[in-house]
Amino acid sequence: MASQDLMTEGDNNLMTPSVGSLGHPEFCRRPCIFFAAGSCNNYISCGYCHCEHEKRVTHLDRRNRELLHSMAAPDRLELLLPLLEQRLESKGLREVAGELLQTLQEALQELRATSEQDRPEDSKEPAPKSQSSRVKSGVRKLPCISILGWAVRASPVYLSGLPGDSADDEDGLGGDQALKSPFSRATDQRVTDALNQLRAGMSTAILTDDVLRIMI
Ligand SMILES: [Zn+2]
Ligand SMILES: [Zn+2]
Repeated sequence: MASQDLMTEGDNNLMTPSVGSLGHPEFCRRPCIFFAAGSCNNYISCGYCHCEHEKRVTHLDRRNRELLHSMAAPDRLELLLPLLEQRLESKGLREVAGELLQTLQEALQELRATSEQDRPEDSKEPAPKSQSSRVKSGVRKLPCISILGWAVRASPVYLSGLPGDSADDEDGLGGDQALKSPFSRATDQRVTDALNQLRAGMSTAILTDDVLRIMI
């Protein structure tokens, strides 16, 4: 029997993954600029994505970012959760992300319960319809990981303990209160665990055990 040549020319992505590529293309971290420029010295331990991205990641414009920042955490999560679900559905990831969605639903309920206790006479003003439909159409263009970031952290970054995440933190982003999770520590850990499980599940086919070990 002829041995199969696993690495064909189109398989560049498979030969050069990195920890940050886990979950590519919807749940990986942003593309590595060094790798794109030719070579990345961090190789497999790089916290950024070494897979090919079709086009530049879309970002929210300033108005939408400001609106999301101004919303109460439960309102923001409630607005964005269905959009994350739709995006997952359209990418064929609804099933594999079931655990993550379930965890987020429970986190939202927990958040609602505590925020009602804390502020019984809360004068929360939901965003006007026109504004929320504008933000929705912006969010629909984002990859899942960014929607998750906005939903939970009010930020395009979702810190989840990958090597690149802590690098971001050292760059000063960690001081930003916007990056703080509104959830309890335990709930936040469950969300992060579900995300990392999903990333690993999506990537086992292209990554070696070594990478998964680095991740864990
Ligand atoms: Zn990627
Ligand atoms: Zn890299």
